[in-house]
Amino acid sequence: MWKIIRVAVLLMILIVVAANAWRDKNQDWSKPVIVLLHPINSDHQASTQKYIDELSVDDFSDANKFLMEQSKQYRDQPVSVYIQLGRELLKAPPKVPENGNFLDNMLWSLKFKWYAWRQHERADGSPTVTLYLNYYDMNTTTVLKHSTALEIGKVGSVNLFAASEQDDQNNIILTHELLHAFGAKDKYDYLTGQPRYPLGYANPNQKPLYPQTQAELMAGHIAISAMENVMPNYLGQVIVNQTTASEIGWTKR
Ligand SMILES: [Zn+2]
Repeated sequence: MWKIIRVAVLLMILIVVAANAWRDKNQDWSKPVIVLLHPINSDHQASTQKYIDELSVDDFSDANKFLMEQSKQYRDQPVSVYIQLGRELLKAPPKVPENGNFLDNMLWSLKFKWYAWRQHERADGSPTVTLYLNYYDMNTTTVLKHSTALEIGKVGSVNLFAASEQDDQNNIILTHELLHAFGAKDKYDYLTGQPRYPLGYANPNQKPLYPQTQAELMAGHIAISAMENVMPNYLGQVIVNQTTASEIGWTKR
């Protein structure tokens, strides 16, 4: 008897896990998408704190406008994405492993989901995606570590500079990570950072091919020659191409 109950409970857990995973992999874009942002003072600098204290949801409005505009090319009804600026958190998410192997990454993703579950409060509501924004002062941190987001669990850890002149580029990074949470894949070479041809190019059929003037969001950079690239200044220089649109389910898969 106990054995049957135990098997039944395990089976139920398995069904719930599978149903959640299916939901996370099949976003219904006809419904509004809510993105909750939690800022974190990651370097404990007073300047970083001042920046966080002055943040408002308007600082992120380019991101949802961009997604709505880009989705119009692929859908009859543009997507509606709502960004909410949530509580500042004191505890930072676990650090993303640098050059981690499969096991490191798997352990990290479990730790990260555990962190997200522990940080969640009822007042946060039920957002579609939660992004933890780790802010650093530009004067003490010169290079930001790798950001990342999980499709299953819909959480992301995003490293950003705490400077208002960086807000436009921060929105590019944030939107890039946000689309990872919906299944978009990177479209640049991990060793060189160069956009991959043709998938990582905004205009792969342009003649002459270089310099490109726009970036594909999941390549993150504009290829100005076969070997060189620059970071776009703002989302106006960025597009979502057909492949990315299909990966996130804006078009029929
Ligand atoms: Zn990426």
